[in-house]
Amino acid sequence: MSGWVAVAGLGPGADALVTPEVTEALAEANDLIGYAPYVARVADRADLVRHASDNRVELDRAAHALELAAAGRRVVVASSGDPGVFAMASALFEALEAGPQAWRAIDIRVLPGITAMLAAAARAGAPLGHDFCAINLSDNLKPWALIERRLRLAAQADFAMAFYNPRSKARPDGFARVLDLLREECGGDRLILFARAVSTAEEQLRAVTLAEATPEMADMRTMVIVGSSRTRFIEGASRPILYTPRWAE
Ligand code: SAH
Repeated sequence: MSGWVAVAGLGPGADALVTPEVTEALAEANDLIGYAPYVARVADRADLVRHASDNRVELDRAAHALELAAAGRRVVVASSGDPGVFAMASALFEALEAGPQAWRAIDIRVLPGITAMLAAAARAGAPLGHDFCAINLSDNLKPWALIERRLRLAAQADFAMAFYNPRSKARPDGFARVLDLLREECGGDRLILFARAVSTAEEQLRAVTLAEATPEMADMRTMVIVGSSRTRFIEGASRPILYTPRWAE
């Protein structure tokens, strides 16, 4: 069987942030599967079959990739950022586990990418330079109460925090509750970074305090990073610089 599946991360947006390994897999692929905006980021080629789908059909998409590979096709499943971070790699393995035994013989590779959290942190200095955690603020796939519990415990443990999927049109109110909870746990002086569309032409960075933060500062293209109690802001630079020292006490 010569088919394979590569679950590949396209990085945050810029071509320069796509790894050579991912570029190579894309060049060898017969089929490209993914959420439509991610598929659109890959240059067209006459012999590449594109399967763009809606955001909410991850398991169908994963099973489709495995079916194609089992039939001998070379398949790339594309995610933005890294495929293992709130993305398709887990969905693929969930489909593999639930699927026919024969699928387990398929050559499956996960090709890492630069996740939005790291791209955003790099643009703003080094806010994740000490212990941190990453939380997906969407309650599409988990109860809201679990999000609140994790936020509260992470704040109490004094982690810096990186938030994916902070706010969408379908969930306009959740992020306002997140900001309230954080002000309660961390106080109004805590630093918060809004990094939108990092590494694209629309990139926008904004660093404020929790007291100044409003829900409208975030949308679905924004990565939100909240500093720990040690995170510092350097004044007077041409861009906002935040960093978290390498030590804690
Ligand atoms: N697998 C992706 C994350 C998918 S969840 C990764 O590793 O980056 C989608 C969320 O990622 C968005 O809602 C946003 O919070 C964040 N995101 C993705 N690309 C981004 C970018 N270029 N700039 C800022 N945030 C981004």
